[in-house]
Parts: sequence; structure tokens; C-alpha cells
Amino acid sequence: MKLASTNPSRNYEVLGEVEISTEEDIKNMVAKARAAQPAWAALSQAERNQAVQSFVDVCKPSAEEIATTMAQEMGKPIKQARNQVNEAFSYFRDYMKMAEEALAPEIVFENDTERHHLLHEPLGVIVAITPWNFPILNIPWQFGQALLAGNAVIYKPSEEIVLFGALIARLVAESDIPSDVFTTVLGDGKVGEILVKQPIDAILFTGSTRTGQKITELAAANSTRVLTEMGGSAPGIVFEDADVPAIIETLYVMRFDNTGQYCDGLKRLIVHESKLDEVLSELKRINAGKKVGDAMSETSDLGPLVAKRQLDVLKEQVQDALDKGAEILFGGKEPANLQGAYYEPTVLTNISFDMRVWKEEVFGPVLPVVAFKTEEEALKLANNTPYGLGAFVFTADAARYLRVAKQLQSGIIAHNNALYFSTKSPFGGFKASGNSRAGGIEGFHEVTQTKLISEEK
Ligand code: NAD
Repeated sequence: MKLASTNPSRNYEVLGEVEISTEEDIKNMVAKARAAQPAWAALSQAERNQAVQSFVDVCKPSAEEIATTMAQEMGKPIKQARNQVNEAFSYFRDYMKMAEEALAPEIVFENDTERHHLLHEPLGVIVAITPWNFPILNIPWQFGQALLAGNAVIYKPSEEIVLFGALIARLVAESDIPSDVFTTVLGDGKVGEILVKQPIDAILFTGSTRTGQKITELAAANSTRVLTEMGGSAPGIVFEDADVPAIIETLYVMRFDNTGQYCDGLKRLIVHESKLDEVLSELKRINAGKKVGDAMSETSDLGPLVAKRQLDVLKEQVQDALDKGAEILFGGKEPANLQGAYYEPTVLTNISFDMRVWKEEVFGPVLPVVAFKTEEEALKLANNTPYGLGAFVFTADAARYLRVAKQLQSGIIAHNNALYFSTKSPFGGFKASGNSRAGGIEGFHEVTQTKLISEEK
């Protein structure tokens, strides 16, 4: 059976189709990965690094094809797509540099009679279920460290990016990574469900909280470990001492870039009442300079949403807010001159906390804004969500920042223009945003298990 891929920038015209992986394909892949993994784990770190580097080298001449596929298939503006391809290469480079030290055996205890060695061994065969919002970056972000640590990885990209997935499978086949160590499964959630029920050692899941919960339930039957990176509804707090002109671009980008489809995007804006007018008029000014258009256009700042289903959910969330009394500062509709999954960047005010735009994750370019009077109130509003991934605090007062950051129920917190992205910095959430960390030494330890070996002296 085939699965078609469509272009959300051009009225969903069909871009191509792929063969959906069958249950038999999947069982074969798991068996072959199981057989291949011990030899991969037995290689030295330098040898594994070399094989992964060969994948990067194979990707480099195809960088434009990778970027174009992402732009056409999921609507990421081509300039941003190109940057992300290069960024993915940098992530691989840094993780290769870090792997040896992060995974080195440690002596954790020693006395006159014994010495305890702690080894970090791979988990084995890992299934990586990924979303569509950062196709190329998700490869190093989600499972680059797992591969480098000696696991075999079965990668299932989202059904929204199957041409991208097929392209990656082709590039892996051209690299020196052993063919059964990094394989690709293509298909939708039903295919993913077959995959997670297989006899595997762990599942890395990045995607919505609903799917993550379902996979966790399915995996429990086999006691399979599930590491989740799920949805978010990050608060952004603007205090009365914030330098609004200095931070407004960051604030705008963290909500509207990637057409609002960031897991850690700033999805609820909480502004001190004395700054509300300034923040709203600055958002309006920045937005006036941004262009929504075809992702393949060099001049588009924002492309369409990934798919019609995503647009439909967004429209329902906005309608619910309007029905309950929200007001539109700007946006609030589909652009008249474009055909596809487009939606104008939108700011909503007069928000009440029973609105879906406040309670749910909004995966599109819509920002609800509320005002507060006291720090205590701001914190209460910020933590008033089942999610706990990102948080943004805009203040000139360093002591206040630390005080507030310590009380936020979030795994990654940004201060003004200082964001939290680096290969050394673990990324992940609290509460319904997930249970794991990617990146940094923690990221290597998540995809390995410790073995304690006591030695008699
Ligand atoms: P999704 O949950 O719809 O799909 C994610 C993946 O799960 C896809 O590959 C899909 O095919 C697969 N899947 C769906 N049902 C399945 C099932 N029953 N069994 C196995 N696999 C199944 O999410 P999405 O729409 O692709 O991505 C958007 C979501 O991802 C947002 O909620 C976003 O916040 C989240 N996300 C989180 C992070 C993070 O690091 N926390 C990063 C990116 C995206």
C-alpha cells in the first residue's frame, strides 16, 4: 500500500508517494537490527564516529535536496530549512566529540578490598518515533546520541514527511553505517503502533502528549522502556522592568517562527499590566514586517502549517476563544491570496482560562495574551498548565529572574535573549511534556544502561 505526500504551500498538490512498511517488513527489520547491534556496540567509539561521520558526508552534497524536501513537504521556509540542515551536521559533530568522555567507564567506589566500575552500555534496539516539525534536526536531536552510544535504531518519521524519510533511508544506505543498524519504517500511527509492540529495548518518542501516553500504555505490556519528549505550552512572562524593544524579536520568533509549530514555543504570553500596551504595539510592528507565503519562496518568513488537519484544529481553537469573548489584535484568519494550510499570525486578547487556546497546546501561529499585577500572580498563571517544557522570562532584574526560574515547573527556561539551545545542554520537560532529556551528558546516559562491576583487589 502507498502513502502520498502533499504540499501544504500549494493547495495540497501531491508531491509523491512511498510504499508503507508492512508488519512483515517491520518484524524483519527488528530481527536484523537485533542481530547487527552487538557488532556495532563492539566497535570503538572512534569507529562508530567514523561511520556516523560518513552519513554526514553523504548528506552534504544532498543538502539542497534535503532542504527542498522539507520545505515542500511540511512548509518550512527554504532559508530556514537550509540553516537547519547545517545545524544538524553541527549537532552530529559535537555529539561525536562528546561521546567518548560521556560514555567512559567510571570508578564510583574504592576501598582496601574492592573497586567498583560503572559501565554505560547501549540499551540495544531502539525505535525512534518522530514528529514532522524539525525533520532533519530531529535525527541528531532524538537519536544521534543513541546511535553513537552503540544502539541500533529503527527510525519512523511522521507520515507528514515520508518523502524526507525515504530520502534519509537512501542516504543511510550510501553511508558506512551498517545497513541494519539504522533502518527506516514509513507509515502513519497504525504502522507506529505495530512497531512499538515489537520485542525492542526502548522507544524514543517525540510527538504529542496524547500519542506519547498511548505508546507508553502499549509498551507496558512488554515492559519496554519509553523515553518521551511531548507537547508544550510554554509561558512567556514580561515583567515591568523588561526592555521590550530589546526582546520583542525573540518573543515573536519563539511564538511565530516555524508557523508556531515548536514544541517549546512561547504559547501563552503573560505581561505586566504596565507593559501591555507597549508589548502589543511592538508585536504589531514586528508582524507588519513579516511575510507569509510559499515555503519555497526565498522571501517567506512564515510558511503554511504542515497540513489541513492541523489548520482545522487551529481554526477550532480560535473560534472557541472568540465564542468565549476573546478579541483579535491582528490576524485571526486565513490569508485571502494564498491556497493551502495558511493562517495569519494572530494575537488574541481578553482571554479567559476556560478557552482552548489557554488550556491546550496551540500548534500554530496564535498567541493569547493576558495581563498580571504581581510576581506571584504571574507565576501562578505560568504554571497553570498540564505541560512543563519551555518557559521564557523577560526581566532586567537578575535576582528576580533566578527567583522566578526556580519556581517555574519547566525543564528549560530562557532569560531575555539567552535561550537554552546547545549540544551540552539537556533539553526536555516536566509534567505532561515528557520524562527524558536529549543532549548533553544526560542525553547519552538516557540511551544507555549502567552496569556496575565490582573488582576484588
Ligand atoms: P503526533 O503525536 O501526532 O505524531 C508523532 C509520531 O507518532 C508520528 O510519527 C506518528 O505517526 C506516530 N504515531 C501516532 N500514533 C501512534 C501510535 N498509536 N503508535 C505509534 N506511533 C504513533 O505528533 P505530531 O503532530 O507529529 O507532532 C507535533 C507534536 O509533537 C506537538 O505536540 C509537539 O509539541 C510535539 N513535539 C515535542 C517535542 C519535544 O522535544 N518535546 C519536539 C517536537 C515536537
